[in-house]
Amino acid sequence: MQFPLPAEVLKALDMITARGYEAYVVGGCVRDLLMGIPPHDYDICTSALPEETKACFCGERVIETGIQHGTVTVLMNGEMLEITTFRTEGDYLDGRHPSSVSFTRSIENDLMRRDFTVNAMAYHPEKGLVDLYGGREDLQDKRLRCVGDAPERLTEDALRILRAMRFSAQLSFAVEESTAQAMHNLKDRLSLISRERIAQELLRMIAFPAAANVLQQFEDIFFAALPQCKCIDITALSALRDGDEITRMAALLHCNDTQSADAALQSLKLPTIFQRNCLQLIEHYAAPLEAATVPLWLARLGEEQFRRLLLLQHNTALLPEIERALAENLPLQVRDLAINGRDLIAAGVPAGPMVGEVLARLHEMVLRREVENDRGRLLEAGRTFLS
Ligand code: ATP
Ligand code: MG
Repeated sequence: MQFPLPAEVLKALDMITARGYEAYVVGGCVRDLLMGIPPHDYDICTSALPEETKACFCGERVIETGIQHGTVTVLMNGEMLEITTFRTEGDYLDGRHPSSVSFTRSIENDLMRRDFTVNAMAYHPEKGLVDLYGGREDLQDKRLRCVGDAPERLTEDALRILRAMRFSAQLSFAVEESTAQAMHNLKDRLSLISRERIAQELLRMIAFPAAANVLQQFEDIFFAALPQCKCIDITALSALRDGDEITRMAALLHCNDTQSADAALQSLKLPTIFQRNCLQLIEHYAAPLEAATVPLWLARLGEEQFRRLLLLQHNTALLPEIERALAENLPLQVRDLAINGRDLIAAGVPAGPMVGEVLARLHEMVLRREVENDRGRLLEAGRTFLS
């Protein structure tokens, strides 16, 4: 079996083996190569200790970001390559972090600590595939299975429960029975995992079309990961062919009351703008939309959010209305109106809160195309509010 590896990866492997150490590409890239998917990056593992790895690349740019974990980053032909010393991970006392990371000279030990059989394969152009746990067979059968004893591996690091769901969605693989059983049984241990890591795996999972099937099978785990959430709409998510993370999350969570949805999003510690936009979509999820009010919605939500709302409602009919409103150069903000508060006061509107109210009314009239955004017309319309 021979896989084409990029020139910089081959060069890095050569530079390590030239000094007598072992080196392989490992993990996701091997899985992808076997599946015929072009890998998005190549991880290299080696028997060389970090300092020894550095010495293999003298003369090249070496970045020491993760050196205490055994990772050395090398700049090869302008590409960043991560090279990590073979590791074994000690007991996981808290279910989160291995209590010790120790380096090992054996690839077998390194593969043993990896999460799933399909992620636990290594490859070198001369040595071929190293597949100690039947990863290739599982790949052929489209099966996701823990390396070793599933309850033990998921107890060590509960994040693997969500990673199993993510990979099942990403690869469209079925989760093998004992792994699935252990996932259900150990779901409460997700409370030990940092919210940021949980958020990352959940968001990655829902991006895949097969997420709906996975959520159906492991709904209980989703609620264990996000207990603030009262319900999920898997059908709405699966009906969404497209859409970014914010849109997809809104589809999944829209059935919640605002308070629960807010609490759920907040607990994931997502960026404020993500939370705010997602919540806004949930709030307006079922809002009746029609051609005449498109400019109003554009003004209220902004173009990006309004496009997300149309996607959620599977409404393509109103898309041309966005182009039309933008081409007309309608004033999407009050400050884009052809008059301002001072003009209204000069025209006799009493200074005070009424000025803002009249401006808002005029703005809405312009957006409804009831009056032109023209100074004279707006003053005329403004005066009618005085009587
Ligand atoms: P992707 O295509 O999504 O990047 P990947 O397999 O590279 O897939 P990563 O999350 O980048 O996934 O992890 C890289 C590799 O590190 C995995 O293939 C796996 O071997 C190992 N790994 C990552 N996280 C864990 C974990 N929590 N427990 C055990 N092994 C892990
Ligand atoms: Mg990866």
